[in-house]
Amino acid sequence: MNPNEISSSRRRLMQGAAVTLAATVAAPAFAQGNQPATLGAGAPPLGDPRSSYPKPPFKEQTQPWPGLAGKMEPRPDHGETSYRGSNRLAGRKALITGGDSGIGRAAAIAYAREGADVAINYLPDEEADAREVIDLIRKEGRQAVAIPGDIRDEAFCRDLVDKAVKALGGLDILVNNAGRQQSHDSILDITTEQFDWTLKTNLYALFWITKAAIPHLPEGASIINTASVNAYDPSENLVDYALTKAAIVNFSKGLAKQMGKRGIRVNAVAPGPFWTALQVSGGQTMEKLKQFGADTPLERPGQPAEIAPVYVLLASTESSYVTGQVYGASGGKGQP
Ligand code: NAD
Ligand code: MG
Repeated sequence: MNPNEISSSRRRLMQGAAVTLAATVAAPAFAQGNQPATLGAGAPPLGDPRSSYPKPPFKEQTQPWPGLAGKMEPRPDHGETSYRGSNRLAGRKALITGGDSGIGRAAAIAYAREGADVAINYLPDEEADAREVIDLIRKEGRQAVAIPGDIRDEAFCRDLVDKAVKALGGLDILVNNAGRQQSHDSILDITTEQFDWTLKTNLYALFWITKAAIPHLPEGASIINTASVNAYDPSENLVDYALTKAAIVNFSKGLAKQMGKRGIRVNAVAPGPFWTALQVSGGQTMEKLKQFGADTPLERPGQPAEIAPVYVLLASTESSYVTGQVYGASGGKGQP
């Protein structure tokens, strides 16, 4: 037998073993000891991260808020064709807000490929994006639940959690990811209504949804909140948004201390510049959008697919000792 035959037969054996294990105990599909599960097979080829995705300058474009990923140029990569799962979340039940597009969509696709059933929340105007995600989840043979509605409403937030719990038959993973970001050059241009809108979406909804979810979460459950690099390095044109992201970091760390007693982990993810609908629907000035990500050491924005693995890790039992943490992915700029 030549070495290639040995490695491919061992690979098949290990893949089979991983599937069997996952089906019973949802164990991580990593091999034990010092052997990687895939023995190097199927790993994407090494490549320069600066050139693995589109770089600025980007085409001028604008969409009415909240924007659709399906109308962006270039279309973001949410892992639709690239994300490969290995049963790391087999049988789990997840609710993701803002799961129709961007970072939330990438997390939804990854979770389904890792074996989870997924409920997504989004705004009614985003039905076209949401349908694509629902189809992708179902293609994996997983349950997909679509729950449109505006999370600035407390009663809806409670209803959202209730519907997700009923449809999924429980809840193990909550991803508070929906967000409102509108660029204003001056604080003098931010009306009380705008300020309230940003805080209601980014903070009140997070509070309401988390509060409604906790009584349903079993030991081992995971809460993941999307913060931002703006929590540490606020952009001058996003002062209202940035303060909410700093608050999300603080809330995640404080809640993690409280939830330890329930065996629930709480973490945050702090993305840098990611190519999503939020950025083309009022989230940036046109000047910044055209050069989006150019000022990072990797010279380009991230694609949502590039941050999905962080959401998978934080949801999975592989990160059982990780709580109260903030995971960054920002192309090398702005994190502490
Ligand atoms: P996105 O526009 O694709 O996703 C944001 C989602 O928020 C929308 O799809 C929408 O469904 C949801 N949303 C907004 N207001 C809502 C409301 N009132 N009710 C219900 N849903 C509402 O953009 P994204 O960049 O993927 O954003 C996801 C998260 O990532 C946000 O919290 C954002 O602040 C954060 N983030 C993004 C970046 C970036 O550069 N794209 C950087 C740091 C943090
Ligand atoms: Mg959207």
